[in-house]
Amino acid sequence: MTAASSKPDLFSKFDPLIQQREALLASGVEDPFNLVMEKVLSPTQAICNGRETILLGTYNYMGMTFDPDVIQAGKDALDNFGAGTTGSRVLNGTYQGHRAVEEALKEFYAMDHAMVFSTGYQANLGIISTIAGKGDYIVLDIDSHASIWDGCKLGDAEIVPFKHNDIEAMEKRLRRIPEGAGKLVILEGVYSMLGDIAPLKEMIAVAKKYDAMVLVDEAHSMGFIGPNGRGVAEEQGCLEDVDFVIGTFSKSVGTVGGFCVSNHPKFEIMRLVCRPYVFTASLPPSVVATAATSIRKLMHGANKRQHLWENSRTLHGGLTALGFELGTSEPQSAIIAVLMPDLERGAAMWEALLHEGLYVNLARPPATPAGMTLLRCSLCAEHTAEQVQTILGMFKRAGKTVGII
Ligand code: PMP
Repeated sequence: MTAASSKPDLFSKFDPLIQQREALLASGVEDPFNLVMEKVLSPTQAICNGRETILLGTYNYMGMTFDPDVIQAGKDALDNFGAGTTGSRVLNGTYQGHRAVEEALKEFYAMDHAMVFSTGYQANLGIISTIAGKGDYIVLDIDSHASIWDGCKLGDAEIVPFKHNDIEAMEKRLRRIPEGAGKLVILEGVYSMLGDIAPLKEMIAVAKKYDAMVLVDEAHSMGFIGPNGRGVAEEQGCLEDVDFVIGTFSKSVGTVGGFCVSNHPKFEIMRLVCRPYVFTASLPPSVVATAATSIRKLMHGANKRQHLWENSRTLHGGLTALGFELGTSEPQSAIIAVLMPDLERGAAMWEALLHEGLYVNLARPPATPAGMTLLRCSLCAEHTAEQVQTILGMFKRAGKTVGII
């Protein structure tokens, strides 16, 4: 071995993943994590590899990306305010549009305070690490999103995970926390890998019994679940017991950005103490303008919500009838996860669907729970009933070709 090759390489920790990836690509399969959309035709269709493709793997639940009012608001803001703010919200980066989108969020959720971050990832990172500090305890579902875990890591609180959606396990952890310590319980409305929802009403009641504050990430439910699209907590009638709702503009809202809404009387101090809010550039004016317009339209999205539920039920029922194993026994959200026997057949099925003209997400560990490989389908309110039938036909042919059904 030469001296050069024995030098420590900081990349050597990635070798197992590099090898696994090379083996998968050597099998001739298209790279499932490097798909390029050459042209996007609508919320549900794009050109991929020169082929017209139905999109069933985006988080564009309400189809707002191509809404004409949303697009016009973005163009107007570009013309009137320029391409970017070049600064932090606390210095030169708060424009009228940032205030306007926070007003829209306060109205949407009927809450007193709204704070917008540059992404949902940063909203979790910022709020969690800032409110739960040294000597405090965070009790969280083990299947929490990476941004929640990273928010925990960035802060100094004690981290106490519990088994996914297990109310008793959560209570057991809360009971053991020393008296007088600050407690934050973190839950999600919809868990994005399997598309299952949390029993928030019961869990929040337990959290309150132990005087814990509650943060719920409603990234995948905003705009869709609940009578006003406020999320699973609204649907289950417990939104007023949630201290902090975290959300994103990158899903139903159809653009990019993150936020926290709250009724906590001291919430505004967050704008000075929350580092992932202070030490980064604010969203461009065009982005906050599209977000505000989209959020205001989502307040009147009842018909779209109803159609999206129909799509979810039809796809779930159809895939079950074809013999696929799904992540939930009933459709609980706009995400339908199809369980694959292993990564190889999952990748083969993903590719067969792409050749049929259908894009879904291939999800694999460590993003997935329990080492599962999933084909994650996420529906859009703009998918027509005919498109859903076409999708079922594609699944049937691909499933038979790959030998999964
Ligand atoms: N929370 C959850 C539950 C998510 O699934 C995601 C993104 N997939 C985020 C937060 C982060 O949102 P963003 O894309 O705005 O960073």
